[in-house]
Amino acid sequence: MADLQAIVDSVYYDLSDRIGEGKLADYIPELATVDPKQFGIALVTVDGQTHAAGDTETAFSIQSISKVFTLTLALGKIGDGLWKRVGREPSGNAFNSIVQLEQEKGKPRNPFINAGAIAVADVVLAGHLPKEAIGEIVQFIRHLADDESIAIDQNVARSETQTGYRNVALANFMKAFRNLDHPVEHVLGVYFHHCAIAMSCRQLAHAGLYLASAGRNPLNGGSVVSASRARRINALMLMCGHYDGSGDFAYRVGLPGKSGVGGGILATAPGKASIAVWSPGLNEVGNSQLGSAALELLAQRTGWSVFGQ
Ligand code: GLN
Repeated sequence: MADLQAIVDSVYYDLSDRIGEGKLADYIPELATVDPKQFGIALVTVDGQTHAAGDTETAFSIQSISKVFTLTLALGKIGDGLWKRVGREPSGNAFNSIVQLEQEKGKPRNPFINAGAIAVADVVLAGHLPKEAIGEIVQFIRHLADDESIAIDQNVARSETQTGYRNVALANFMKAFRNLDHPVEHVLGVYFHHCAIAMSCRQLAHAGLYLASAGRNPLNGGSVVSASRARRINALMLMCGHYDGSGDFAYRVGLPGKSGVGGGILATAPGKASIAVWSPGLNEVGNSQLGSAALELLAQRTGWSVFGQ
């Protein structure tokens, strides 16, 4: 077994002179206030060992990474019925693009672009008030991470509620095509709040462990989802988790991953480990620049890949 701590340390060390690279997501004003000179890598193995380097205890805005958890909840509620509402194909477009949504009559390409995640939020909202649905999502993530301290950053939620014009447009568009059951403001309330959940790399790696270990949380033995559902969520992450950068991420890293504009990426090495990296500077398609580089080096040095040795 490779010395994983040595690998994590070496990846951090080799990239440390690039800390601060990339551009903050300033279209959400609160995210533009984050110190860009931060970088963390946390890895939790399926047998429960944690290896970490850098800023792994600092909570950051998980943004679109939360879509992995809302997708898991929505599949738990309506199973394959979800695929009537949202597709399973990579979009090849920016995460907030509206073009395809018109051509495809209000059915988003996949659950990870904004439109798709808004449809997923509508599913999670069924039978609840918005605040109950938000509570359910936070509770689920706390349960996965085994950490009751995880919470929403209300400043980020407010900031995005005040400026999320494109998401308002996407939601109204879907509503016009009857692909939202609930009022647009309620659905967006759920969406903006789950995107504003703050977590550290360590908490995030822990929360994602069920995806690396056949749907079970190996730390408490609990089953989160079936093994086949975990595999399918990983497939969606691989194909769609980095928007129009998904192909490049698969080519360079070779692991399922989900990025967020807060600069975090959650990646799965099936049967091996759950990995969370964070550095706020983004590349041109909105994925963490240093985070992607860290996962590329980590995959090289561990030999982990879903495509072979
Ligand atoms: N909350 C963000 C938005 O809707 C999420 C985008 C992301 O992380 N890619 O724009």
